[in-house]
Amino acid sequence: MLVTHYSPRELRAAKEQLTSFAVKARYAIKQNDVRPISVRFSAKFSDYNANVRYTSSEIIFSVSPTWIGVSEEIVTGLFQHLFSKAYKLRIRTMETDLYHSFTQKLSDYIHVTSVDHELKASFDRMNERFFSGMMEVPNLKWGSASTTKLGDFNFHTNTITISTIFQGAPDLLLLDFVMYHEMLHKKHKFKATGNSHTYHSSAFRRDEALYGVPDIEERLQKYCRTYQFAKKKSSLHSFLRKWAP
Ligand SMILES: [Zn+2]
Repeated sequence: MLVTHYSPRELRAAKEQLTSFAVKARYAIKQNDVRPISVRFSAKFSDYNANVRYTSSEIIFSVSPTWIGVSEEIVTGLFQHLFSKAYKLRIRTMETDLYHSFTQKLSDYIHVTSVDHELKASFDRMNERFFSGMMEVPNLKWGSASTTKLGDFNFHTNTITISTIFQGAPDLLLLDFVMYHEMLHKKHKFKATGNSHTYHSSAFRRDEALYGVPDIEERLQKYCRTYQFAKKKSSLHSFLRKWAP
């Protein structure tokens, strides 16, 4: 765990420093909130994660210790980002912009530790076809058997996760499309405007259309419906087996 790299004295000093950044960040956004702020380090977090908890009497930030030593502007951006979410304000400052570009770049520096071979084959096909083989392989993992969340790219962990409904599916066209879509997220990152992120920009959609299968969305929907139906049928079968053996 990263926390052990620091002595208790260093951790105390870092905590004080981050707390003073948080106090300043809040002052820039909201001057009439005087609740005491504290910052805690949590080794449970993945790198560069953070969250905030509020009570009527205090505000507590929990942050991953990887934030220690990151520049004041970026950390201020992190706190302003969390405050603006909490206050439901759309705030965009030089610091929140720096914070967002920092988190976007992070994914390029995260070690790749988990690569599934079936997903890697799909990644390689898409990489060759659309990125001249130049995209660095991220972590590639299967998720759950979801028919609503087919894929996901997580910037913080540099991981593409794909629904297991595509595991071993004979039609590679579908898996490859979901993979390609997530790879485009890795390529395009996101545009931050205030509190909302634009993930599917028009440039993203233009790239996505290069896949060249105009009815791919309908095919995916059909596949998901078939999958759900098959699942229902098989649970009905086991239900019937149970009650009418
Ligand atoms: Zn998307």
